[in-house]
Amino acid sequence: MTPPPAHAPSTPLSGPQKALQKLGLLRPIDLALHLPLRYEDETRITRLGDARDGEVVQIEGVVTSCEVRVRGQRQLLVTLDDGSETCQLRFFSFYPSQQKALAVGQRIRARGEIKGGFGGLQMMHPTFKAATGALPTALTPVYPTAAALPQAYLRRAVLGGLERADLAETVPIDSLAVDVRALAWSLRKALTFLHLPAPDVALATLQDPNHPAWQRLKFEELLAQQLSQLQAKRERERLRAPELRVLREQPQAGAPLHEQLLGALPFRLTAAQRRVSEEIMRDLARPVPMHRLLQGDVGSGKTVVAALAAAICIAAGHQCALMAPTEILAEQHFRKLIGWLEPLGVKTAWLTGSQKTKERRETLALIASGEANLVVGTHAVIQDKVAFRNLALAIIDEQHRFGVAQRLALRSKLTEAEQEPHLLMMTATPIPRTLAMSYYADLDVSTIDELPPGRTPIVTKVVSEARRDEVIERISAQLAQGRQVYWVCPLIEESEALDLTDATQTHAQLSETLRGAGGAGLQVGLLHSRMPAAEKKAVMALFTSGAMGVLVSTTVIEVGVDVPNASLMVIEHAERFGLSQLHQLRGRVGRGANASACVLMYSTGDAPRLGDTARERLKAMVETSDGFEIARRDLEIRGPGEFLGARQSGAALLRFADLVADAPLLERARRLAPLMLDQQPDLAARHVARWLGGKAQYLKA
Ligand code: ADP
Ligand code: MG
Repeated sequence: MTPPPAHAPSTPLSGPQKALQKLGLLRPIDLALHLPLRYEDETRITRLGDARDGEVVQIEGVVTSCEVRVRGQRQLLVTLDDGSETCQLRFFSFYPSQQKALAVGQRIRARGEIKGGFGGLQMMHPTFKAATGALPTALTPVYPTAAALPQAYLRRAVLGGLERADLAETVPIDSLAVDVRALAWSLRKALTFLHLPAPDVALATLQDPNHPAWQRLKFEELLAQQLSQLQAKRERERLRAPELRVLREQPQAGAPLHEQLLGALPFRLTAAQRRVSEEIMRDLARPVPMHRLLQGDVGSGKTVVAALAAAICIAAGHQCALMAPTEILAEQHFRKLIGWLEPLGVKTAWLTGSQKTKERRETLALIASGEANLVVGTHAVIQDKVAFRNLALAIIDEQHRFGVAQRLALRSKLTEAEQEPHLLMMTATPIPRTLAMSYYADLDVSTIDELPPGRTPIVTKVVSEARRDEVIERISAQLAQGRQVYWVCPLIEESEALDLTDATQTHAQLSETLRGAGGAGLQVGLLHSRMPAAEKKAVMALFTSGAMGVLVSTTVIEVGVDVPNASLMVIEHAERFGLSQLHQLRGRVGRGANASACVLMYSTGDAPRLGDTARERLKAMVETSDGFEIARRDLEIRGPGEFLGARQSGAALLRFADLVADAPLLERARRLAPLMLDQQPDLAARHVARWLGGKAQYLKA
């Protein structure tokens, strides 16, 4: 017999209760940590005679008329007289109880935006209440809420939560040698200050991010995040994984596989590639699952590092899987890895969602028997039906595009001995330091901070759409020199159909113009996400072989495509792209020895000029080609939300702390977390529970 869960409701929940639950406001502490969005000043009454058009004010007066108008849109019209002037209050939706509260003769206080006009003063949908009792003496908090959850109800619930919540100190201020000025105020004092502002406290004070109340909240939040990430990391340390060691005492087998691979490469590893490979090898040799992020700018040569790791895994008698977010990218990896590893006797299998049943069945059999040493594909590789014989290393390219759920699925592919596979994630979007310290604190990070020699820098130009003809001339010039060109059109999810017309129109226009310019036999190709996989493959093959001069595409080429002869990239509607995305795209050129260029073509649409954010982004692209600097500016311009991509779906974003502005607080929380876990594990557990409740599980993925 299992007892029912303690929180099982004995009576059905009311509407507002359900809404509270939806907002995640379940425990008293959740309510207490639900902070006001803003404050309203209900301490003063404005005389209608003094109110100015557009001002948000509180007025008080007697209702002199109240009627429901049924002609046109049904509405409630109320006239309020305060002795200096009258004002009409209009409601388009209203309950009978509200109508009653606004009956003629009632004295009420209403709050809203005053509109002047020929018809006299008006307020649309003001909030109102009976004018009883004295005016409040302090500012009134307004909480973020949802449908079916009135402010007044929520406010009572929050104050109730504040009363009942356990706010005992969880941060060991004295026992640990961390200087934390942010703890000048206790949590209780901070919350009381913000939920129940004192009469003399000004709005600016309540909203001052440097106020001790906010500093305390931000620090607590950051500390909870640091603790949970560190905990996840330590829990992982307790898991088992196969030890993938390089064995040298088998002279009949010759040099170890990864050394054979190195010997066969047409280039030497850069110092950075050597360093990160060693870091990875050290991890693989441990009986604990690796959880490492390999970051390196586009073109820095991550693939070969992945291949070396795969070689070590395979030489140790285990299987390795490599996944990429798109089929095109996966296919590129597949070709490259076959080229490198099959001559050395490695058997490679290819697996995607678009395969025919028979082919797929055969591949699955190869994977299950262990005959396939290396499996390359899209995320089809981690579907339930794919059973490995002894998977020991999973490599995920462009990890930020993989969701938390997919990573969990991967980790459930245990080996026979109940061991977890090692995990290597790769990304060309370098994670800014503050993000690495917070959201990715549970990962070990290796960084390739050096490009292979012999690359020529890319010249970036920003031009207006009005100069399209010049841009096309430039394309002709490149083609005449035997070079190849990318033309990228944006893809916005909501209007994929529209974008397709963009891409197809551009394709038609370029085919026409460039053929006219004498490029006999020149091919202009089109690539977009709606095309069948086989067609995409054919187009990519033509472009890779050099038979196709221009590739018009939506952002499907964003990652991974490697055609060294391509020397010009034109990005249409560059203003619509994010900074990191532009950087990724630009990385497709400048891969060979030829001078390369990237043209960011913008359109202002109907606006007279480009918006500030877009302008800033394009300027950043011209000013720097350093992926880290670009990532830092991206974080500044957009905030961490978008940056985190998939991760945000699982991990609650920080509510109060700002990673850029509060970096010093983050640094302190990061130093305190390990001390606290070691010396005060109970406090640490209470602190995490307070802030993350049931959400901590997600952070481990
Ligand atoms: P990314 O890090 O963007 O995935 P790739 O692994 O695709 O970069 O490498 C980009 C190109 O550089 C490839 O053609 C690859 O073969 C080449 N490359 C990688 N390492 C080196 C090196 N050490 N010296 C010269 N070329 C290299
Ligand atoms: Mg790559």
